[in-house]
Amino acid sequence: MNEVANNLKSLKDSLPSDVTLIAVSKTYAPEIVMQAYEAGQRVFGENKVQELTAKYEALPKDIQWHLIGHLQSNKVKYIAPFVHLIHSIDSLKLLQEVNKQAAKCNRVIDCLLQVHIAQEESKFGMSPSDVKTVLGSKELKELKNVKITGLMGMATFTDNQQQVRSEFKTLKDLFDDVSSSNPEIKNLSMGMSDDHRLAIEEGSNMIRVGSLIFGKRNYSA
Ligand SMILES: *Cc1c(COP(=O)(O)O)cnc(C)c1O
Repeated sequence: MNEVANNLKSLKDSLPSDVTLIAVSKTYAPEIVMQAYEAGQRVFGENKVQELTAKYEALPKDIQWHLIGHLQSNKVKYIAPFVHLIHSIDSLKLLQEVNKQAAKCNRVIDCLLQVHIAQEESKFGMSPSDVKTVLGSKELKELKNVKITGLMGMATFTDNQQQVRSEFKTLKDLFDDVSSSNPEIKNLSMGMSDDHRLAIEEGSNMIRVGSLIFGKRNYSA
């Protein structure tokens, strides 16, 4: 087995069966991504629209592609024909654009609302109260070509486990709250290479893991 296949196997062996693994392939070449595909992985995530569409075109068509990074309205049209799940919806306006582009493709696109749980200013996402406002809005009910299936969040980049755990708890509490009155809300996307164990302990059922599978990322590549 190659290293990617090995890493993937040991990660998957450690996961509870109800946790979905998104293999985050950003910055890795298609040949490397194919090693995970050949080892059986079919769900992949990218954080940039351009890289996502390039990999979609280069790689097998039975891959489920997730967009996990910030999405600009003017780029929705490039991913609407094929994207499986968008993790990074941060406004009603963006959701309306996804709905419009999905309708053009005769699709219903599943989306997660990204919640701002980290202390860092730089991380995108809505406040918990914005999430509730969007979910309860009449504007959302009019959108027939999008479906909100859950929430996504990123914890602060820190060694402080207590802080990370408490941010995950905040998101899980919100998830429990909104999913109790909405059976379509099932996905809780939280946890990356360094914090996925903590995230799963705190109730995540969808983790986004890159470097633990593919090795150290080379951003200049
Ligand atoms: C890059 C990225 C990940 C995965 O990061 P790793 O540390 O390589 O596991 C997860 N989520 C988002 C939004 C990312 O941009």
